[in-house]
Amino acid sequence: MLGTILYGARDVRCEEVPEPKILHSTDAVIRLSASCVCGSDLWPFRGLNDVTSPMAMGHEYCGVVEEVGSAVTSVRPGQFVVGSFCISDNTCPHCRFGFQSSCQQREFMTGAQAPLARVPLADGTLVATPELPPDDLIPSLLAASDVLGTGWYAADAARVQPGSTVAVVGDGAVGLMGVLAAKQMGAGRIIAMSRHKARQRLALEFGATDIVSERSDAGVDRIKALTDGIGADSVLECVGTKEAMTQAIRCARPGAMIGYVGVPHGVELDGQWLFFSQTGMMGGPAPVRRFLPHLIDLVLKRKIEPGKVFDLTLPLADVAEGYRAMDERRAIKTLLRV
Ligand SMILES: [Zn+2]
Repeated sequence: MLGTILYGARDVRCEEVPEPKILHSTDAVIRLSASCVCGSDLWPFRGLNDVTSPMAMGHEYCGVVEEVGSAVTSVRPGQFVVGSFCISDNTCPHCRFGFQSSCQQREFMTGAQAPLARVPLADGTLVATPELPPDDLIPSLLAASDVLGTGWYAADAARVQPGSTVAVVGDGAVGLMGVLAAKQMGAGRIIAMSRHKARQRLALEFGATDIVSERSDAGVDRIKALTDGIGADSVLECVGTKEAMTQAIRCARPGAMIGYVGVPHGVELDGQWLFFSQTGMMGGPAPVRRFLPHLIDLVLKRKIEPGKVFDLTLPLADVAEGYRAMDERRAIKTLLRV
């Protein structure tokens, strides 16, 4: 079959790879309904993470179970499933506490930019839908696997409440999903920070009430001006750079929570500055598995349409163009037909 392999900076190829097999009794092999490129795939693509050996890319997935190992009991061949990018047993103390992304048996999904993928710990990781979903819902179900679950976690971690004022730093797919999540959680005001017209439009569609296109001091001033000089009750940091994290903390009112889900690259914070900011911070890799049943239900009932975040669709063979389009910000998120 064809699969996606990253060899080094800006060198991603679609090439012939072996089909995945059941390696452990707790594995499942699924046939993907679609795949996609994640913003976090761009870190190694841009050479910001070391690529020491060829990497099988792809960690967002949904599709139909082909085969399960002998110990798998909760899913069976023929069922449609969605899983998290974090593999988890869903039974250890961290999983039971709702932090499946720190599972004692955690692995990170790989190899899902392909028609078939092996999912370890299938019982703990996969959530089956009651029946096969209609094709038009596939992009939204695929989004639940990572970007929607991550945006949702950012809002959950930032303790978005009904009526609260939320600021979202970052207009990538996760930031836009954070807007959608804040809306679902009943936020009264959602301020999206974005300088890009297409992304601003999508943010407004997902529920943003205000757009702030300024950054740094001017961005902070705008948010303060919009909140009577107070700052936001909840801030979602969905980028991972020092500038974005600093912006998030400066936009937050004392007592606010910041949900930070951008993988930090070069972020260092001053202790005294943090101390006097009086903000709480919760972040890390999203425990998407905690939210999956609810998110799948919202999609199946057509209450949300996170799949709108895909603005470019390509065949798997053109995966390299999918990476480039996102890298150059010509696309928000690339869906891959497998
Ligand atoms: Zn666990």
